[in-house]
Amino acid sequence: MKPNSILIVEDNPDIVETISIAIEMRWPDTRILASSRGEQGLEMTETESPDVVILDLGLPDISGFEVLKSIRLFSDVPVLILTAKADEADIVKGLEWGADDYMVKPFKQLELLARIKGIVRRHRPLLKEAITCGQLYLQISPPLVTLGSKKIKVSRTEALILEQLMRNPGNVVSYESISRAMWGDDFPEAAQSVKVHIRHLREKLECDPGNPRMIITSPGAGYSLAKPS
Ligand code: CA
Repeated sequence: MKPNSILIVEDNPDIVETISIAIEMRWPDTRILASSRGEQGLEMTETESPDVVILDLGLPDISGFEVLKSIRLFSDVPVLILTAKADEADIVKGLEWGADDYMVKPFKQLELLARIKGIVRRHRPLLKEAITCGQLYLQISPPLVTLGSKKIKVSRTEALILEQLMRNPGNVVSYESISRAMWGDDFPEAAQSVKVHIRHLREKLECDPGNPRMIITSPGAGYSLAKPS
């Protein structure tokens, strides 16, 4: 599963080059587009319809968050945000505003490619369209959770994690299997990424996200979905 075109919105030419080289080596036929400014990146998302957008948060004209918000008004193209440091608040905000995944700079080429591959995989049409577990109903495309009478919008990434948990209620789903479902691979940074996505899911689904009753942590192992009563 390879992307046909990737748009890089990033003002640091060295990072654009690093990303471009990694992509060219793995997928020589993939078209690479780049913009150093947010407004232009937004325009290119509309005119060029890339398969994936890699979006830096700190841009010279408008912030990456603004770009993301505007993209989501007209497109559900997968967006991978790039953030300078492991600032979890920024990452969570990016996911909140509709990003599909994130990467922290500096990143490894292998991780970058795994994440792009994962994001493309997650955007292909899935065979199974919906799954139910107790009060939870998950629709895969477009991703939406119904909890009792509440309708909650989730990202594709979150839908995929939740799908893994809902298929095995009461059983621990390991970081590794979640990572494989999401990125098609397991890599050292995966557990940390899964944690951030889980935290975000809890904020959407749990009454008290600090004291989760639905998505339970199994320290050092993974997560389980509480068995429906
Ligand atoms: Ca920047």
